[in-house]
Amino acid sequence: MSRIVYLDGNLVPHEKATVHVYDHGFLYGDGVFEGLRIYSNKVFKLKEHLDRLYESANHICLQIPLSLEAMTEAVNKTVAANTLADGYIRLVVTRGVGNLGLDPRSCAKPSVIIIVDSISLYPKEMYEQGMEIVTASTIRNHLNALNPRIKSLNYLNNILAKLEAIRAGVPEALMLNQNGEIAECTADNIFLIKHGRVLTPHINAGILEGITRGTVIELAKKLAIPVEETTLTRHDLYAAEECFLTGSGAEIIPVTKCDNRVIGGGKPGPISKKLIEAFFKLVRQ
Ligand code: PMP
Repeated sequence: MSRIVYLDGNLVPHEKATVHVYDHGFLYGDGVFEGLRIYSNKVFKLKEHLDRLYESANHICLQIPLSLEAMTEAVNKTVAANTLADGYIRLVVTRGVGNLGLDPRSCAKPSVIIIVDSISLYPKEMYEQGMEIVTASTIRNHLNALNPRIKSLNYLNNILAKLEAIRAGVPEALMLNQNGEIAECTADNIFLIKHGRVLTPHINAGILEGITRGTVIELAKKLAIPVEETTLTRHDLYAAEECFLTGSGAEIIPVTKCDNRVIGGGKPGPISKKLIEAFFKLVRQ
């Protein structure tokens, strides 16, 4: 099915949605993006995603050429043009077309691209039975090199870790930070459960502040399950009762094995199941 793409103010068929080879998003990964979900024709947590997009852009001194209101309208308009009740949105803002030098000042105007399509990151069985991951030797970007809070178009750090997962024959890799602490997976945040408490790395561990992560933290609080943002190491993971990952693409997926070690009982645990149920209830409301 032909998808309709928003490209700098116009809705165009996806075959015609092309970017210039001198766009610095293409040449240097100079730009920012968001991945959002559509549930029952409605964009999930649109405001939160747009706030993060504008914060990422602000960090790299990229002036998005649309106001927050105009961007909200553009997203909703693109969703409506695609008639996809449940789907995924990729919102990209590139530095725009410049010359072959690095200097962003050669780029006259940032480009805004909104793609609507379906997504399925992992097989259905893994959501029911749990997924296996490995720890990557590639560490997550240092906060002072490229802060992982910037959702930038430069994902090579994550891709290098993903390649390690693929080589190990599993779908995802755990990334540590420069101190050997747990940061996140290549496109998902991580949660552990120990002694009935939900634990997740603090933002200062060098992670993306996931919108799904925020939703799960809120849900845990509502369900009166203790939740803590804290420093975690692989010791905590190996000794955890349960583990799961969160992301707009992945939604919530239990992890039952890491580095060939069984986590907890080797099956999705009761607290993970409770949070997964609450999450899907919320999004399908
Ligand atoms: N960490 C990374 C590195 C990501 O790219 C993502 C988004 N796929 C996440 C975490 C999860 O963030 P969100 O829940 O906002 O999709």
